[in-house]
Amino acid sequence: MAFQKTLVLLKPGTVQRALIGEVINRFERKGLRIAGLKMMQLTDELLSEHYAHLAEKPFFQRVKDSMMACPVVAMCLEGVDAIEVVRTLAGPTNGRKAPAGTIRGDYSMSFQENIVHASDSPETAKVEVARFFREDEIFDYSMNNLLSTYANDEY
Ligand code: ADP
Repeated sequence: MAFQKTLVLLKPGTVQRALIGEVINRFERKGLRIAGLKMMQLTDELLSEHYAHLAEKPFFQRVKDSMMACPVVAMCLEGVDAIEVVRTLAGPTNGRKAPAGTIRGDYSMSFQENIVHASDSPETAKVEVARFFREDEIFDYSMNNLLSTYANDEY
């Protein structure tokens, strides 16, 4: 077990539907530490890199356009096994199929408009955190609640 950092984006739909606070609260109350947090207007160039694995899909441009509709909120979250924990909190991609209790299951009715992006592996998390945050935008302060958040052999 180890502390990991992962990238989360609160998508434009989340900003438009005034769900920023509610979604951030899901991550905070779980016990994840916010290592970085900012608002950004994404560009087609950055999104072509970020969603390169979708380049051949018919909806590629539509997904990118949706991600540029207004600023997003970018977050770097940290915790033990944070990448998997955040993916579990987010739920499956299609909001209509995502189980109740997950963020997408609770707030999304759409495959595309699904509230959050979350890194899906240690390799992508490393690349994605560096894609969205400069080193001096990531803060390694310590939380004073670790002993209440984890058993002492878990971190
Ligand atoms: P995830 O965000 O769950 O990791 P992907 O990396 O496969 O999923 O896709 C990136 C984003 O592209 C999704 O979050 C969603 O907004 C959009 N997307 C993926 N597949 C579809 C689809 N079949 N129809 C519409 N939008 C899609």
